[in-house]
Amino acid sequence: MFEKNPKNVNTQVIISGKETKNMNQKNLAPALAVENLSKVYDSGSAKKIIALNKINFSIRKGEFVSIVGPSGSGKSTLLNLIGALDKPSYGRVFIDGNDIFSLNDSEITKIRSTKIGFIFQSYNLINRTTVKKNVELPAILLGINKADRSRRAEKILNFLGLGDKINQKTSNLSGGQQQRVAIARALINNPTIILADEPTGNLDSKTGDEIFHLLKTLSHKFGRTIIMVTHNRELALQTDRSISLKDGVVEKDEVFLK
Ligand code: ADP
Ligand code: MG
Repeated sequence: MFEKNPKNVNTQVIISGKETKNMNQKNLAPALAVENLSKVYDSGSAKKIIALNKINFSIRKGEFVSIVGPSGSGKSTLLNLIGALDKPSYGRVFIDGNDIFSLNDSEITKIRSTKIGFIFQSYNLINRTTVKKNVELPAILLGINKADRSRRAEKILNFLGLGDKINQKTSNLSGGQQQRVAIARALINNPTIILADEPTGNLDSKTGDEIFHLLKTLSHKFGRTIIMVTHNRELALQTDRSISLKDGVVEKDEVFLK
């Protein structure tokens, strides 16, 4: 039956098969995958530092993953590469299926602004300006119009319990409030992945727990993919999965059954 016009039939099958496969790959792509990811710091002196040595893992959409390990084990280096704040020496990072370091610098910047939200230990806010302006900043950089970014910033700040602080300067806020502003800023562009480098590290344990539970809510109730570096074993045990680094390699990758 196919013999009458085998060429056409085959072409059609191949094309439609390819399309289906591509669509599926896009839908099923993990939020993040790293492949043989390596970073060597070479300051030109005799001693090179291998901060990361061929790291491999992937993270599903909506997973809340902790990264643990001793100081100097490569946790911040890993987060900085995933967030494209720095470039790997070797290996690849896929965000939503995109091989980000195969792109040019302006495309990498675009991925960083649209797909990644950062939260740091020391909040990294601009203290001389208002809470709202801090939160809007990543949206301003993306060229989102004023009305849209204003509406969105207010909605997120209200959700995070900072509705009455919108026009205050961030320097008037407590540490926990400042970290909530940083979380709002991380959320403003609706990123695929939120990266948090020791977000509770500067906070007392009660405030740290509050920030942690906020991240947990964002993941479990709102489906956010979150990767959090922490020294706090108790908090790590409450995430979905914990990846332990030691000397730049993955020592353990534990999924916690809940
Ligand atoms: P962690 O966050 O787990 O404490 P880091 O990723 O900061 O670890 O550091 C991993 C290793 O890389 C350490 O040996 C550290 O000294 C080194 N390192 C980190 N950043 C740099 C840099 N910019 N230049 C040179 N070495 C660095
Ligand atoms: Mg660190």
